[in-house]
Amino acid sequence: MEGRAKNFFIVSEKDVKSGKTTDVYFKKTVEILQKAKCSKQVRAEVRASSLPENYSWAVLSGIEEVICLFSNLRANIQILPEGTIFKEEIPVLEIVGEYAEFAMLETAILGLLCQSSGIATKAARCRVAAGNKTILSLGARRMHPIIAPMIDRSAFIGGCDGVSTIKSAEILQEKPQGTIPHSLILILGSQEEAFRLFHETEPSTIKRIVPIDTLGDEKFEAIKAAQTLGNDLFAVWLDTPDSRRGDFKRIIEEVRWELNLRDFNNIKIFVSGGLDEYSIQRLGSVVDGYGVGTALSNAPVINFSMDIVEINGIPIAKRGKMSGSKAVYRCTNCYQIKVVSRKNDLLPSCSCNGRLQQLFLPIMTDGRLERQLPSPQDIRTYVLRQLENMKLKL
Ligand SMILES: [Zn+2]
Repeated sequence: MEGRAKNFFIVSEKDVKSGKTTDVYFKKTVEILQKAKCSKQVRAEVRASSLPENYSWAVLSGIEEVICLFSNLRANIQILPEGTIFKEEIPVLEIVGEYAEFAMLETAILGLLCQSSGIATKAARCRVAAGNKTILSLGARRMHPIIAPMIDRSAFIGGCDGVSTIKSAEILQEKPQGTIPHSLILILGSQEEAFRLFHETEPSTIKRIVPIDTLGDEKFEAIKAAQTLGNDLFAVWLDTPDSRRGDFKRIIEEVRWELNLRDFNNIKIFVSGGLDEYSIQRLGSVVDGYGVGTALSNAPVINFSMDIVEINGIPIAKRGKMSGSKAVYRCTNCYQIKVVSRKNDLLPSCSCNGRLQQLFLPIMTDGRLERQLPSPQDIRTYVLRQLENMKLKL
């Protein structure tokens, strides 16, 4: 092909690491500092001064990619552990180094943290709404395919149980999950044949989940699916279009009733289609699993900013920001977070008398990794433990 449609509109990882995606004012800054032979060590801090949509908490995600961004630099970095639940004004990342060396990365650092944390936060909110019901991340189709693994990883560590795309699942070392598409039923021309062929073709490790809203009414298709696959059927899936929904909860209740009446109590009911934490909450009692797409992939970003808080060891920050190096402690009992100046060696105390644990710890020293990074499964467990122990609400 000549001239057109040869490439996606993307950059390579190398371009990102070399600062090609930076806002140009950072490039100008570096050029001017170099011309002035002005080389200074700075301490810069990343935090969000507010959270979107009046959220009262958020989940930190994107740390592993930030570490990857710094893999060739000599900076010193400290972080809150990936998956930490934080509030506004809590520092989540601190970089100490020669300013000109990392100025060109600021745009990328923020982009990595803002989007990923937004998605992980939305996933955690869906988890709070869903309790222990299953949530699958289906958001890949709403965004550029290049970032599908980032979307799915963020959704997974925020609390989703599984992801739908093959590469994301491979990276997470999980099995991709989902139903069969309506197109298979339309092309084969029969629900029963599609269900039967699905069962015959796919390995037994794949859960049999089938759509029941392709050609007929959800109730009758659910009965058909259950009678075709019997107890091999894991779940029926409703993705009923808005124009046919009416009272969606009542439709689901009716399907449940008819399945139970025929002794198919074990067959679960999954739903999808424009779901978010609030519709999950409304459907709660009648649904076993949720497929969440757009709400995850298009989640509001967390507006982190990066600010200089110290230059050559002297505390200084712009208006509205607190200068100097901070320590971040969290109470192991009530999970309250306290931010204190490092100059003040006094360990803060918590009103509940719980033990305070230092959370803001070095992850990179002179470009060398201080410890192994946690797996997505470990981060997810950490998020779920905090959601439970902190008894968080939407
Ligand atoms: Zn406490």
